[in-house]
Amino acid sequence: MKRTTVVVSACLVGKRCRYNGEHRAHAGVLRYLKGKKYVAVCPEKLAGWGVPRPPVEFSGGGAREAVAGQASVVDNRGRDRTASLLRGARRALRRALASQATEAILKEKSPSCGVRRVYREGRIVRGGGVFTFWLRRRGIAVRSEDSFSGRGATRS
Ligand code: SF4
Repeated sequence: MKRTTVVVSACLVGKRCRYNGEHRAHAGVLRYLKGKKYVAVCPEKLAGWGVPRPPVEFSGGGAREAVAGQASVVDNRGRDRTASLLRGARRALRRALASQATEAILKEKSPSCGVRRVYREGRIVRGGGVFTFWLRRRGIAVRSEDSFSGRGATRS
């Protein structure tokens, strides 16, 4: 039987790529991935953003609107980061498609990787990130770490 590939947010498997320089290694996700083929990606690193970096959130809409040019992603100094976030998510999508992934496990609340909740204008609202949006449009099933039992993390 053909082995499937899982795309996973790099911070969930222990990469210190979060805005604050931490990771969010998740015991349940790591257990699930054991013995499976997976590709760890961080769309915001692929955007060329450093670590640490200012946190970002949606403004004026969510992923669908940001992709359509009707909303933006701004950092905590109010700078518009939409174009580079979209670029990073597009690069991450290309990696996911090249790996022929059929499923993804992404980090909740991020404007790139969020699955059911994201930060928008200082609040957590329902919605997904841009990478998630594009993966779903390509038919890739997406879940977040919330679907896996086990403590979230060995934060750095
Ligand atoms: S949530 Fe996504 S974009 Fe944010 S650090 Fe993790 S992998 Fe990178």
